Amino acid sequence: MTTLLTRNKDNGSDRHAALNLAAGALWRTPGCFGIARTLGPSYSLRCVAFHDISTAESPFTRGMGVSITPSDFEAALKFLTRYYTPVLLQDVLGASESRGLPPRPVLVTFDDGYASMIKWAAPLCGKFGVPAIFFLNAAFLDNHRLAPDNLVCYVANVLGMETINAAVRVVKGADSPKLKCLTDVFSCFFPAISLAERQVFLDTLVHLGGINERQLAEEAELYLTRKQLCELASLDFEIGNHTYTHVRCRALTPENFGEEVVRNKAELEALTGRKVRSFSVPYASSTDLTSDLLRLLELSGHQAVFRSESVANPRGANRSHLDRVSIHANRDDALFFEIEVLPRLRAIRNRLFRGLGVIRMARN
Ligand SMILES: [Zn+2]
Repeated sequence: MTTLLTRNKDNGSDRHAALNLAAGALWRTPGCFGIARTLGPSYSLRCVAFHDISTAESPFTRGMGVSITPSDFEAALKFLTRYYTPVLLQDVLGASESRGLPPRPVLVTFDDGYASMIKWAAPLCGKFGVPAIFFLNAAFLDNHRLAPDNLVCYVANVLGMETINAAVRVVKGADSPKLKCLTDVFSCFFPAISLAERQVFLDTLVHLGGINERQLAEEAELYLTRKQLCELASLDFEIGNHTYTHVRCRALTPENFGEEVVRNKAELEALTGRKVRSFSVPYASSTDLTSDLLRLLELSGHQAVFRSESVANPRGANRSHLDRVSIHANRDDALFFEIEVLPRLRAIRNRLFRGLGVIRMARN
């Protein structure tokens, strides 16, 4: 049975099954959008995020939960165009109190610049008349090197977590806690290391694995080429900034904002001849969106900043903190639940936790 809440389709926990049932029942209820409105904050712009679209996961993506099939993507586009109004970034930037967005606006976005953007995403968006933003890392265009996540994923899938842990020990010493899975690498290890330590870690993976990274990247053809990027731009898709080498932005200091943020924007603009006006935070967490980074983004001409904590954007949401929902579902009831219900419930949960935090702080 397809689950609604996780990327793992074999996860059939009672809780998920119950939520699936609830989603199906709610979706079949007349006026379900109105009912969803009563569950949480008023929800203005819906932003949805996709990554890779492929018929089969490769060792470079297996276990990362970033891929959906072309038919699932098409099902999502059908749902979005039937029940929402897809909008351009320009519509969002031009919206004001007096000139609002159309009813149920949705902004479609893609991160990481996989080659599947030109093979599947652009043609299917074109078929359904859906505009989109593609957030890219210029370092990986033309496939001369692998993005850190794909290299880690490849090593974990082909050589095992032991090789990952051996490289962790080179960076952090023999007493480093053992990482059990890819999530540990991306959510625990990467946030705790500097850019220089990340490079040592990646170099060690390449060395331990006996990998010729350039050859592997060229054979895998995971990412867009420069020519394909220009094709996307010529089709009037918006191109956005996702840092030069896909970094955890909390590891950036004002000294290296230039090489990761400003350089990426400049290279994408030079290639496409179009202004880069938006930024999506790699790994999607607001913790990575530091005040120094926000200032730099504003000063360097980024007019919208996106993260993916999957909460609802309230009316009048700050364009420097637009939230996106990652889409994994392929049925209308599940998509409705992912886009309308869960983001509102998460927003309530976050407010409650913040409230509890405030109470705890007041007591201390
Ligand atoms: Zn990314």
